[in-house]
Amino acid sequence: VAETSNEEFTDRDLESAIRQSTPELSDAQVASLIGYRDLMFETNQRINLTAVRDRSEMGRRLVLESLRLVRPLRGAIGLDRDPRVLDLGTGGGIPGVLLAIAFPDVQFALLDATGKKLAAVNEMVMALGLANVETVHVRAEEAAHDEAWRGTFTVVTARAVSSLPALVELGLPFLKLHGHLLLPKGMEIDDELRAAEKAARIVGGRIASSVVLPDNGSHVETTLVVIEKNRTTPAAYPRRTGLPTRQPLGAGS
Ligand code: SAH
Repeated sequence: VAETSNEEFTDRDLESAIRQSTPELSDAQVASLIGYRDLMFETNQRINLTAVRDRSEMGRRLVLESLRLVRPLRGAIGLDRDPRVLDLGTGGGIPGVLLAIAFPDVQFALLDATGKKLAAVNEMVMALGLANVETVHVRAEEAAHDEAWRGTFTVVTARAVSSLPALVELGLPFLKLHGHLLLPKGMEIDDELRAAEKAARIVGGRIASSVVLPDNGSHVETTLVVIEKNRTTPAAYPRRTGLPTRQPLGAGS
């Protein structure tokens, strides 16, 4: 047996890590999570949905990493009777699909500017039989000014999409008053946080918390930044396509 057998992470390991981190999930939900990992692995051979290529690495990075958001998401949904979650820049459905599996009673909109990725997500969502997911092919800068989307979400998530201040400008307009942005980030984020604080003040939010998430078997170090919308976003935001990322609010001075 090769030395690397220590490192091997089997489907059984994945299943027990899922159950340990998120014990409230049913057998069917656990099977769905692993099913998504399998579909991602197959689909990723044809279409570049994620830079994570290895099957077992996908279990850690896509499934276990996303499941760490279950508890914060439950807290952020709170008592909203019509909870709606937007996953901004969902790509291959991360973390949106995983969270939709964990929260079958919550409506999820998975938004991305790349139609090809969303077509693949639609296929996976159909194969998994998820009834609480819709995909939205549009740029966030445009959708955020559409009455059908603006101010309508309880929570917005975004993983590996842009800098914190850019995500504040792109994400906050979508929230209902007192809704929350849940933004998983790396560990060295002091500068981004400072800029995000200024950006939040401009678009109607405040940083509610910034905490290191438990590992949960993901082997990824993540700070979860939570931003609360505490005022209506001024109509000028988000600015036109590209500006939020190219000239982030709150940068400099
Ligand atoms: N969240 C996924 C994908 C990250 S890649 C994951 O964690 O794997 C970033 C994705 O965000 C890309 O698919 C890109 O198309 C999308 N994206 C970036 N800026 C966007 C914008 N302004 N509007 C819509 N989608 C955007």
